[in-house]
Formats: sequence, structure tokens, C-alpha cells
Amino acid sequence: MALAHLCLPGYTAPMKDGIETRLYVDAPLAAGGAVPLGLDQTHYLRNVLRLGPGEGVALFNGRDGEWRAQIAAVSKKAAELAVIEQLRPQRPEPDVWLAFAPIKRARIDFTAQKATELGASLLWPVMTRHTMVDRVNTDRLRANAVEAAEQSDRLTVPEVREPAKLETLIEAWPEDRALILADETGGPPIADALAMHRDRSLTRAGFLIGPEGGFAEAELDRLRKLPFVTPVSLGARLLRADTAALAVLAIWQALVGDWTTRHD
Ligand code: SAM
Repeated sequence: MALAHLCLPGYTAPMKDGIETRLYVDAPLAAGGAVPLGLDQTHYLRNVLRLGPGEGVALFNGRDGEWRAQIAAVSKKAAELAVIEQLRPQRPEPDVWLAFAPIKRARIDFTAQKATELGASLLWPVMTRHTMVDRVNTDRLRANAVEAAEQSDRLTVPEVREPAKLETLIEAWPEDRALILADETGGPPIADALAMHRDRSLTRAGFLIGPEGGFAEAELDRLRKLPFVTPVSLGARLLRADTAALAVLAIWQALVGDWTTRHD
């Protein structure tokens, strides 16, 4: 299935600033600039939304904030947008990573979309001893993340890394970033762990979620010995991997991230 049909680029939001559609682009954004669109985004604007020259679109690229643009030209295969004015400046966003043992297709897509809505800054599939999936379509994960970023009014799209073995992830993990291990075999309640480490500036953190079959004992042993790892419990009930992934992000946002400030 062509990527374009997996999830449509662009998102049509309730009207805001007189604009309904948000598109993530890679091009720099500045007043007077011109942004070329590729086939997928052109198809979406022209054939799905039936927009034509002069219609407004909001653009963001993860660096320059959000800009109002107008369709300057559109043909079957390409379009060009004229960048007009900035709608929102780029602002700092929480820096929370989600490393997760990949699960079956529909649910990994769901995880990518919801983790993006919940503000994850990086998604990293990790292959553990009991991971049942041996291949991950990271292009599709990226497409899901882009669509969720467009829909959730984010100004960034999470980085999606290629899958790594657990040992590779451990070796590559930045020592100054807390790795919070969702450990179904036990650990302090997550709220206590986050509160306890609040001074350790958990504003740069990452979560690690195991596979449906759980971490192997040797993996837990290895992880628990690392100074930058904090095991946490998500209570007595056993959560599915995708449930646990979304739960930890929501809790982190509420206790440490940007759900701690008003958004009027
Ligand atoms: N080992 C479990 C079993 O006995 O079937 C299954 C693991 S669970 C489906 C998938 C992952 O979600 C776990 O590895 C863990 O990272 C996280 N998780 C699920 N429930 C949890 C809990 N109550 N506390 C902490 N982490 C949990």
C-alpha cells in the first residue's frame, strides 16, 4: 500500500485564524518565501480538500513556528505555497523520549500517533529478547507522527529512530537523560519516582516499555544496574504495551511536562 494511502498528509482542523488545514513541511518558513509541495500533499490539497489558488493553509516545520500561507499555484502533481505571516512563534517543547518494544502493526501505528499527541520528542523502537515483531516500517511510523502533529497543533514532529537492539540503545543512551523503565515486576510508584527525581531535572527524560511478553530477567537485571535508569511501577494491573506507553507519557506531562502550565 503506497505510503500516501496509509495516512493522508495534512489535517483539517476546526477553523482557526480563518484556516482549517495544517501541513508539516521541511522548507524554511519566512514572509515572502515560496514552499513547493510534493505529490502527496498536492493530492491532499487539490483532490481531497479541493482547495485552489488563494486558499489559506497553515505551515510548520519544527523550527520557524507556524505560518499562514496561500496556495499560489497548483497542478496535478505539484503545488506552490506563498508564505505570508507568522501565526505562532516556535517555542520550547518538553523533551521526553519513548523507547518501546514494537508491537503488531495497527497498534504500533496507534502508539506513534498517540505518543505524538502526548508530546513525545523521539520515538525509538527497541528489539528485546521477547519482542515478537522483527521488522518495523519506520516510514509509516513517521507518516503517522506527522499526521498526529498536524492534528494536535504541535509545532514539531517527533524524531523516529530506526529500531535498535536493547544493548545498542543502552550504549547509545545519553547519560544525562533519565531512563525511566516501566517495570511490571515491581518498582516505586511512578508518581513517587517522578516526584523524587524532580530536582534531577527530569525535564529531559525517556521511557522504556517492554514487549507483550515482558522483559527477560537478564534484561531487567542489566537495566536496573545502570545509574541513569529508574524502574517504576504502573500499579498492580498488567497493562498492554501500548497502554503503558501512553500512560507514562500522560503521567510525565502532568507531573513534569507541559501539562503543568495553563494553556489559555
Ligand atoms: N511481562 C508481562 C506478562 O507477564 O505478560 C507482560 C508485559 S506488559 C504486556 C508490556 C510492558 O508494559 C511491560 O514490559 C512494561 O514495560 C509495561 N507494563 C505493563 N504493566 C505494567 C505495570 N503494572 N507496571 C510497570 N510497567 C508495566
